[in-house]
Amino acid sequence: MRIDKLLANVGYGTRKEVKKLLKTGAVHVNEKVVKDAKEHVDPESDLVTVHGEQVEYREFIYLMMNKPPGVLSATEDNFQETVIDILEPEDAVFEPFPVGRLDKDTEGLLLITNDGQLAHQLLSPKKHVPKTYFAVIEGEVTEPDISAFRQGVTLDDGYHTKPGELVIIKSGIRSDIELTIMEGKFHQVKRMFEAVGKRVVYLKRISMGSLELDPELELGQYRELTEDELELLK
Ligand code: URA
Repeated sequence: MRIDKLLANVGYGTRKEVKKLLKTGAVHVNEKVVKDAKEHVDPESDLVTVHGEQVEYREFIYLMMNKPPGVLSATEDNFQETVIDILEPEDAVFEPFPVGRLDKDTEGLLLITNDGQLAHQLLSPKKHVPKTYFAVIEGEVTEPDISAFRQGVTLDDGYHTKPGELVIIKSGIRSDIELTIMEGKFHQVKRMFEAVGKRVVYLKRISMGSLELDPELELGQYRELTEDELELLK
C-alpha cells in the first residue's frame, strides 16, 4: 500500500496534506526517512512512525452504538444529524457506515463499520440474521398476537412476513414486549403491530445476530466491538 494512502487512512489528513508532511521528513519507515508519497509499505510488517510516534494501521473499524432518538441512521444528510456526525473524528476518518437502518425515533443497537463484506452478510435476506427489539405497545398484547406473529402477519402493502417470535413481558393498556424477526422490511416492527391493530410507542433494538447491546452504553455512546464479539458476528 502507498505510504500516502496509509497515512491518509489513519487520519493524517488528505493525500495533499500527507504529501507535505512527508516532505518535512517527519515520516520514517523501518527507521529510514521516507519523503516519496509513492513509496510502498506493508502495513502488517513495516514499522511506520510520524514524528517518532508509531502509526497503528488497520483497515476496518467496528463500532457498537446505542443510537439515540432524533438522529438518522445514515452516513450524511444535508439537514439532519446522522449517526456518523456524532462519531469522534478519529473514528470518522475510517469512513464507516451504519449496517442497516433504524428509524429516526428508534433507539438501540447499531453496528457501524467500514467492512462492506460483513455488512452485506448481516443484511442479506438469505442469511436470516435475527434482530430482537424491545417495544412498548399501546394496547393489550395477548396470546393471539403471539400466534399471529408466529404465522407471519400481512403488512399494509400486502407483504406476508416471515414468522416472528413475540414475548410478552408485561400486558396492559400499555404492554412491554420483545420481538425477534429475521428480516428487515421498512418500519417492520411498527407495521407488524399495526397489522394486529396496535401501535408501537417506543422501540429499541437490543440484539442483532450474536451481538447484544452493551447495557453500559448510554444513548449516543459507542465503543469498539471486542475481538470475541467480532469473531461471533463473522
Ligand atoms: N422496525 C421498525 O418499525 N423500525 C425500526 O427502526 C426497526 C425495525
